[in-house]
Amino acid sequence: MTTTTILGAGLAGLTTAMMLHRDGHEVTVLERDPAVPTDRPWDDWDRPGVNQFRLPHYLLPRWWAELRAELPDAAAAVRAAGAVVINPLAALPAEIRGPDRDDDDRFATVTARRPVLEAALAAAATAAGVTIRRGVRVVGVRTDGRHPVPRVIGVITTAGPVSADLVIDCGGRRSALPAWLAAAGARPVAEERSDAGFVYYARHFRSPHGRLPEIRSMVIQPYESLSVLTLPADHGTWSVVLTTSGKDRALRGLREPATWSAVVSRYPAAAAWLGAEPISGVDVMAGLEDRLRRYVVDGLPVATGVVAVGDAWACTNPSLGRGASFAIIHARVLRDVLREVGAADHDKLVRRFDEATAQVVEPLYRATNFVDTHRLAEIDGDVAGVPYRPDDLRWLASKALFAAALRDPGALRGYLSISSFLNTPDEVFATPGLRDRVLALGMPAPQYPLPGPSRAELLDAVTALPHGAETSGHCGRR
Ligand SMILES: Cc1cc2nc3c(=O)[nH]c(=O)nc-3n(C[C@H](O)[C@H](O)[C@H](O)COP(=O)(O)OP(=O)(O)OC[C@H]3O[C@@H](n4cnc5c(N)ncnc54)[C@H](O)[C@@H]3O)c2cc1C
Repeated sequence: MTTTTILGAGLAGLTTAMMLHRDGHEVTVLERDPAVPTDRPWDDWDRPGVNQFRLPHYLLPRWWAELRAELPDAAAAVRAAGAVVINPLAALPAEIRGPDRDDDDRFATVTARRPVLEAALAAAATAAGVTIRRGVRVVGVRTDGRHPVPRVIGVITTAGPVSADLVIDCGGRRSALPAWLAAAGARPVAEERSDAGFVYYARHFRSPHGRLPEIRSMVIQPYESLSVLTLPADHGTWSVVLTTSGKDRALRGLREPATWSAVVSRYPAAAAWLGAEPISGVDVMAGLEDRLRRYVVDGLPVATGVVAVGDAWACTNPSLGRGASFAIIHARVLRDVLREVGAADHDKLVRRFDEATAQVVEPLYRATNFVDTHRLAEIDGDVAGVPYRPDDLRWLASKALFAAALRDPGALRGYLSISSFLNTPDEVFATPGLRDRVLALGMPAPQYPLPGPSRAELLDAVTALPHGAETSGHCGRR
């Protein structure tokens, strides 16, 4: 049995804690936010430690499959909390999805507003016996002082020192672990970071009848200059998100609710999602870039006795909805490495976890970063009026697959397999006959096959309205 201290009770911290606890490890989670989850988490659970707490979250079929397989009690708790069960394939009109196939169930998922989801996971963790100490902020690491590879033997917190055989950083996008290790005399962590990021303009709604809007297209819809996300959630709620490039100053008026609504109404696949009571202002989050950290540098651990899981290790543009899936897969990888190595072999544990992360999770990060990089360049091309025409065949194939998915049920399932994180593009394109159909249907398709405004029409919609018709709240609540 290993005594583990997990830093952060977000999605990565909670799933890691439950998996390790099931394996018999002693687990304590330290969470800096003092508030405990309430019965009405959307209305009154205060979580300043998670910037995106009130922004839309959609859970991929891969996340749901992992949760059911590894943490069935937590899966039951999420269902019981009112998360909506949805199959994004079955929800599409029959003329798009074609006849049902035997394995269509694999696209099923559950999804909920983030506070509802996290409250359910926290309740499941507590019920399982995980100790969560809220209101305890980690401010540094304790080490044995060894050079050049110190061993972390615990953390320094606002409530005093805590000892641990293994410290697991689940502190999210803004994790300060590299700075704490540097302060303890460790070598620098290797970090890669993209140049620029996306901006989110999101709003939640609630139906008076508890029914979701009619689903007419994909969850993620790429258009000229921006993407639109239509995201079902719990208890008859849902959200609509516009994602733009951080460089696109002309669209900053989207933070005004009247402007935001006028723009969403121009997209036929999303307009029906406006027809309900808004339960938030237009919440805005910027600086959403991709970032990955390596804790084994030049073949040598930066430190032992510590690992990073979830966003603390790597985070990506969230519009692909993959963060929670990364976190649960990464938690499972750590659990499996602990089964294999044990925490007593400090050096081997860190090296083996780094290797397993590179084998299992990093390819998923690379695939996501690939999409983010091309999509951002494509949007920036729209903004500059210079069509984005890279010669990267994999990007062209992924564009062709999206276009073909709107017309071919096999291509649709291929597209959904990739976007659900169930299969890689290589696996999908190995399906007999698919590549030829995708090329035939997708290559001649327009750059943006879904009907929607051009950039000029979009800018008209943004500038036509008087500002301030309805005030927006930054991460406001109603
Ligand atoms: C705008 C936005 C939208 C997103 N949408 C989706 C989506 O649709 N689907 C999806 O799968 N993912 C989405 N994500 C990603 C998702 O939120 C994260 O990937 C996921 O929450 C896993 O994060 P985590 O647990 O690693 O970090 P977080 O959830 O950020 O949790 C980190 C925790 O650590 C705590 N903490 C931090 N520092 C300390 C400290 N010093 N001491 C103690 N505690 C500390 C914080 O308070 C927090 O509770 C989105 C992200 C953003 C930014």
